Amino acid sequence: MGDKSVADRLKDFGEVDNGLSPEEAIEEASRCLQCKKPACVDGCPVNIDIPAFVALIAKGEFLKAAESIRQQNLLPAICGRVCPQETQCEALCILGKKETPIRIGQLERFAADQERAKGLTVPARKTATGKRVAVIGSGPAGIVAAGELAKDGHDVVLYESLHAPGGVLTYGIPSFRLPKDVVKAEIDLILAMGVDLRLNHLVGRTVSHQELEGYDAILLGTGAGLPYFMGIPGENLSGVYSANEFLTRINLMHAERFPEFDTPVARMSRVVVVGGGNVAMDAARTARRMGAKVTLVYRRREEDLPARAAEVHHAQEEGIEFITCANPVRILGDQAVTGIECIRMQMCNLDESGRPIPEPIDNDTFTLDCDVVIQSIGQGPNPVLVSQIPGLDKGRAGNVVTGDDGSTSHPKIFAAGDVTTGAATVIMAMGGAKQAARSISEMLGSR
Ligand SMILES: Cc1cc2nc3c(=O)[nH]c(=O)nc-3n(C[C@H](O)[C@H](O)[C@H](O)COP(=O)(O)OP(=O)(O)OC[C@H]3O[C@@H](n4cnc5c(N)ncnc54)[C@H](O)[C@@H]3O)c2cc1C
Ligand code: SF4
Repeated sequence: MGDKSVADRLKDFGEVDNGLSPEEAIEEASRCLQCKKPACVDGCPVNIDIPAFVALIAKGEFLKAAESIRQQNLLPAICGRVCPQETQCEALCILGKKETPIRIGQLERFAADQERAKGLTVPARKTATGKRVAVIGSGPAGIVAAGELAKDGHDVVLYESLHAPGGVLTYGIPSFRLPKDVVKAEIDLILAMGVDLRLNHLVGRTVSHQELEGYDAILLGTGAGLPYFMGIPGENLSGVYSANEFLTRINLMHAERFPEFDTPVARMSRVVVVGGGNVAMDAARTARRMGAKVTLVYRRREEDLPARAAEVHHAQEEGIEFITCANPVRILGDQAVTGIECIRMQMCNLDESGRPIPEPIDNDTFTLDCDVVIQSIGQGPNPVLVSQIPGLDKGRAGNVVTGDDGSTSHPKIFAAGDVTTGAATVIMAMGGAKQAARSISEMLGSR
């Protein structure tokens, strides 16, 4: 059914992508070759039986298709919307060699939306084991681990520092890409399995890690919510935000509706977003919906932008100006931001990942007028809790070191998601969480 028109999009925060109609879904699913060795499944970090659910959609059996997906994926309506399928399952679809690959993500979303409209069924639990597991953080890693552990019959307590569950799904990804009622419905289903959610509990501050010692196992899913800054003059001026803070103010605290909601955000007419990833696109498109003229400054070339192609396309359609091969050197202003000075960059040798290394061109600077600067240059693991646990091995970036099974150097502690990998993807966090939950159940003797 395509995307909403640009004029309609900019009126509110409603979802841009309208998804597939039943007729479109059947037609798309009918293109699937039902490969005997389906390459697409190899590209799925949670191993969804893709040909099976696609075949059910082709037959018009939408609810059975959703049931089939749910056996491997507890968050299908979310994944159908935000997974980078073009580099995962769809990248490996055999049809992609000659024509367009099957639109697996759209079909997953379609089946999950049909199921939600009819009413979701709470997954069954095994017999109670009497074992207690604490899960810290309710992003995709924590919520999926909690669901898997509840299915295995354990008593699960899920601690979340914020006043709403979901992690980045709730506070980071804007509702024009991921509507909050979709997130709520999938999380509520997991909570309905008997998971005890404790909001406003910052473990390591309002709850000490020693208080968790009574649990039989602990799973850390505290994410990578620590924003990095450029370290340039002017970063403390009023009107400078990290993308995390800016998006949290709007997605979670509804600053766009201040004073109806308590949290304000700076008035913005001209916004400069620094960075080129998905988070930068989300921040830029959000600022655009706040009525601002938005310029994105990225230090490499347009073809090097790390964001998904679809996100870049949507941002450009919505009128966001891209200035590439440029990097900020100073934010200007007295108390509040009035502009940003940037230097032009040239591409030199390649780094280890094959990307060009940008180098500044001496004295080639320019200034952009703006009243808000949003920095989106990456984020690292949240240190509040992991820095306090004695004997927990950490990598150079502060990430918790785990084995393939999610175990850490502490015998009772497992970890999954961005706190182990650094900023990654929803489905990677979910894949790690499923594995860590399996390992915990094995350790507790219930598998
Ligand atoms: C703006 C943005 C857009 C993104 N877009 C996409 C996308 O389109 N597709 C995609 O696949 N990925 C995307 N990502 C990445 C993806 O969201 C993350 O990889 C994923 O959410 C990681 O899940 P997680 O559960 O490990 O961590 P998080 O989602 O960060 O959740 C961690 C949770 O732990 C809580 N917490 C932290 N410390 C404590 C503590 N001490 N006590 C209690 N609770 C604690 C936090 O409040 C948070 O709720 C995006 C990320 C951002 C920031
Ligand atoms: S690889 Fe493509 S065509 Fe083959 S089963 Fe998977 S989705 Fe269908």
